[in-house]
Amino acid sequence: TQSLTESDPILHQALSGEGHRQQDQIELIASENLVSQAVLDAQGSLLTNKYAEGYPSKRYYGGCEYVDIAEGLAIERVKKLFGCQFANVQPHSGAQANGAVMLALLQPGDTILGMALDAGGHLTHGARPALSGKWFNAVQYGVREDNHLIDFDQVEALALEHRPRLIIAGASAYPRVLDFPRFRAIADKVGAILMVDMAHIAGLVATGHHPSPFPHAHVVTSTTHKTLRGPRGGLILTNDETLAKKINSAIFPGLQGGPLMHVIAAKAVAFGEALRPSFTGYIEKVIANTQALADVMLERGCQLVSGGSDNHLLLVDLRSKGLTGTAAEQALERAGITCNKNGIPFDPQKPTVTSGIRLGTPAGTTRGFGSNEFRQIGHWINDVLDALHQNPEGDDATERRVRREVQSLCKRFPIYDY
Ligand code: PLP
Repeated sequence: TQSLTESDPILHQALSGEGHRQQDQIELIASENLVSQAVLDAQGSLLTNKYAEGYPSKRYYGGCEYVDIAEGLAIERVKKLFGCQFANVQPHSGAQANGAVMLALLQPGDTILGMALDAGGHLTHGARPALSGKWFNAVQYGVREDNHLIDFDQVEALALEHRPRLIIAGASAYPRVLDFPRFRAIADKVGAILMVDMAHIAGLVATGHHPSPFPHAHVVTSTTHKTLRGPRGGLILTNDETLAKKINSAIFPGLQGGPLMHVIAAKAVAFGEALRPSFTGYIEKVIANTQALADVMLERGCQLVSGGSDNHLLLVDLRSKGLTGTAAEQALERAGITCNKNGIPFDPQKPTVTSGIRLGTPAGTTRGFGSNEFRQIGHWINDVLDALHQNPEGDDATERRVRREVQSLCKRFPIYDY
């Protein structure tokens, strides 16, 4: 057997380039993180060779005794982590997890109520171009114009008017605490099922830094790769046995074939890591770092959607700087800082342009950045944005200077073997 270097040098070069990119730039994409070497080892393991359709001890293939151990560990650990009774760790992604819940509980044409994409929701919560928006009668709620918090009067009014079968709470770009009891009270009023998609905040929920969706949600979905710091994938949790059975059948054979056993093993490793006290320390730092970054953004004249953050991310409204999200994202990328443009509530710009950027601290915190580093990062971001405002083509001198300083910071905080 040849190594990757020998057998596929072109691909090897791309991997190596990506390694250097991750090492040399500051990662502020709020949905990304850096997994441990142990998670990487499990995900890159020979478990990728194994077919294991079905569930532990009820498989459609022989030779599953060891992958059963891996999946059993993932299930037991995630149940302990989130304090619930049933878990499916097979969804290939967050979108698959949400799709499986819909397949389990809804008929095509049923009404669902989720957060609008432009208010911070996710595509899978009923956005027009997604399956959830095409196959269901998707009604969407948003945030209040005055404080950017979820508009519960609107959620309730829409629920009473449209009588959804499923209400979805959860977001991709919402910097504040989600009020699960309030969602449940509305769901109960109209006899809807409440699904919480905690993809972004799962790490905070695991450590008690965001209220738990249990016992309020009937079903909870998540990704495993954001604040939870596991491999790329999804999961579904519930305390209801009947629901759990329907969800298992919806994942397999409903939506997926063979589970990705190497990814499930890596999920087990990550859930084990998240159960340790050190993970609580990590999430505390993620939150403190977000506050440090928020302080500098405000000091330097940026506006923040909702005025600040309770979690791991900030949504920066760039209108006070006279910039668009696209222009800011590109200039920051040139300066070695990676983030994504993001619509802000009631954004006057198109979704391809936007008036905002989303900044998150999970990846930087994993590599060891503390509040001082995040304050410095906030100043670099504003140096680049202020220079861009002066010179819309991009200020070469400032961007180069920041890039040099970013690289020297990154050298002091190496990832893996770089
Ligand atoms: N749900 C939420 C709230 C998300 O933010 C995301 C991803 O960004 C997803 C679901 C989808 O996850 P995936 O990209 O793994 O399909």
